[in-house]
Amino acid sequence: MGLTTCLAGCIIVVVIDLKPSMFWLLFRQNFLGVPMDNLPEKTGWIEVICGSMFSGKSEELIRRLRRAQIARQKVQIFKPIVDNRYSQDHIVSHNDQKISSEPVSSAKEILGRTDPDTQVVGIDEAQFLGMDLVAVCERLANEGTRVIVAGLDQDYRGQPFEPIPQLLAVAEHITKTMAVCMVCGNQANRSQRLVDSDERVMVGAEGAYEPRCRRCFQPPQ
Ligand code: ZN
Repeated sequence: MGLTTCLAGCIIVVVIDLKPSMFWLLFRQNFLGVPMDNLPEKTGWIEVICGSMFSGKSEELIRRLRRAQIARQKVQIFKPIVDNRYSQDHIVSHNDQKISSEPVSSAKEILGRTDPDTQVVGIDEAQFLGMDLVAVCERLANEGTRVIVAGLDQDYRGQPFEPIPQLLAVAEHITKTMAVCMVCGNQANRSQRLVDSDERVMVGAEGAYEPRCRRCFQPPQ
């Protein structure tokens, strides 16, 4: 009798102590088998897709954003205005997949343009948006948004390319996409610049880069 009362008391205390939303989350996870990260609750996070040029970053970004659209989630997609290689209002991958996007001239502009009811924010070519992007992604995720960012993780010298290293540190999910080395066919994670230039970012330089592996990459002098 004493033990039963004690157990019942403990259960009541535990149930009262849990916030209703947490109780519901635990109930769904344990009894309905719904994984925590699939729940449409107000929980945000950051996903980073990074790699060299021609490694399929935009393709993977488009795939995830399309799935969110199919799930009828409200999606907004941004890309820096500096990247006008193919289109100002679409993200286009090298294998010709595309999805409509809004051009922005700075990372902070993304905050002003994101609607309050947007559930998923996609950002392509993050290397053009600078260090402000880290705080912008953090704020969106803190407010409950799923943020998916794609960008180059190394520059043409093979050096870490901000803000991707900082985003990797704060992201919940990280995907490194690999290209194929144009010299030996191994997996490649570096972008070899084939023309002479000291600019860190060369926009619209189709044919000016090729993917190379660690062994075949030759950093510029
Ligand atoms: Zn190689």
